[in-house]
Amino acid sequence: MEITGTAQHAAWQTRTLPPVEQLLEGLWSVPVPIPHNPLRYVSVYAFALDGGGLGLIDTGWESDAGWTALTDGLAAIGGSIDDVRGVLVTHLHFDHLGLAARVRAASGAWVAMHPADASAVQKLSRTSAEDAVAAEIRFLIGLGAPPEEARADVGGAENLSGFLRMAVPDRLLEDGDHAAFPGWSLRAVHTPGHTPGHLCFAEERTGLLFSGDHVLPGSARTSRAPIGANPIRCVPSWTRWPASGTSSPPRSCRRTNGGSAGWPTASTR
Ligand SMILES: [Zn+2]
Repeated sequence: MEITGTAQHAAWQTRTLPPVEQLLEGLWSVPVPIPHNPLRYVSVYAFALDGGGLGLIDTGWESDAGWTALTDGLAAIGGSIDDVRGVLVTHLHFDHLGLAARVRAASGAWVAMHPADASAVQKLSRTSAEDAVAAEIRFLIGLGAPPEEARADVGGAENLSGFLRMAVPDRLLEDGDHAAFPGWSLRAVHTPGHTPGHLCFAEERTGLLFSGDHVLPGSARTSRAPIGANPIRCVPSWTRWPASGTSSPPRSCRRTNGGSAGWPTASTR
């Protein structure tokens, strides 16, 4: 596997925020910060669409700083939020889906994700913050946490309210479906594990794989984490799988750590 976002890779190693980076003609990565989090940012991918407009993969953590980073990033590539036509979401975690509601409200863009994660977001949207707190505490106690520690860790309802207002998608993508990004051929690849509905996106014309959190820096594991006080912190990776004779991305990955930051440098069948 070849890492093609070189500025992103270098920034990860030096623990700085990478710049907006053009990866190909018509394709850029835009870093969106995750406040108070050691992972620091998530990369949003912006595609120039045939006929005009932009398509995004993921949107970043919902915060004013994140919104500024996203809007400034799109301005840096000559676009704006108004240009966004559609958003592909790799999975429901707040650092990927968080800003989608604000993007949709500002642009009218559609939001698409896998049905398994979509149903979870729908359920969350119908949950009160108080019920979410109680469920989260029960979840932690079920894992063995002392009740007082679980209550302190989850905190008040205000800590969870943002997670209950994430964008419920208006389009669904099953494994093998192609996204409506004119000029690109982005095939959804269902990769459950990190979340039940996690999707990678295989761009069939260029051989690029947008792996979301299916592959994470410094760890080959997938995870199931509660929606709550300790939401998932992840950085999507952008990689290329061998184009020669390959019609689909790897189903599973073997990772080797690449340097002190543990960024993956190899991932093969
Ligand atoms: Zn995640």
